[in-house]
Amino acid sequence: MRKGNLFVISGPSGAGKGTLVKRLLERIPDAWVSVSATTRAPRPGEIDGVHYYFMNDQHFDDLIAAHGFLEWADVHGKRYGTLKRTVLERMQAGQQVILEIDVQGAFQVRKLIPEAILVFIEPPSLEELRRRLEGRGTEDADAIARRMKTAEAELALKHEYNKQLVNDDLDAATEELVAFVNECANE
Ligand code: 5GP
Repeated sequence: MRKGNLFVISGPSGAGKGTLVKRLLERIPDAWVSVSATTRAPRPGEIDGVHYYFMNDQHFDDLIAAHGFLEWADVHGKRYGTLKRTVLERMQAGQQVILEIDVQGAFQVRKLIPEAILVFIEPPSLEELRRRLEGRGTEDADAIARRMKTAEAELALKHEYNKQLVNDDLDAATEELVAFVNECANE
């Protein structure tokens, strides 16, 4: 069987990655999104094993020591990592595997798996990004300021990605992403 592609999707928090990935999964039957491990606390409504595998620092350290991660990074003071085994298994099974991870993780993955396809999701502008983050109401002013700073640093790296996609209109952005993934899958 042909090995599946590995897509790495990054972009500033508030750019709409989560929504786009959800829509992509509805449209592409053999796409599978990896569930990461994290040391951050669950937000209201988040389910262990669905949104993340929530764990303490000791458990995360044990996984690092056991070489359980494809990549991991510190993002906004908490650790996040991609579990290696399931990702490799799904690729072997021919699925289109999607990682929704930050820029540090994306470049680690590219080093290990050079054929990984990196997609950067951009907000229409930094002003719009701030508006979305404020509208979400899940972060306080400090956290928003921190996320805006990270966003600027991430945007500076977008040209390192294989594809850039501006999430201005959600329907149009979904179509563009679905078309891109299908194109790569058929190559
Ligand atoms: P949040 O806490 O808002 O769910 O995620 C914060 C950031 O962590 C997002 O940019 C998200 O893409 C990134 N992230 C989530 N999982 C992983 C992972 O497994 N590895 C890395 N490097 N970043 C991740």
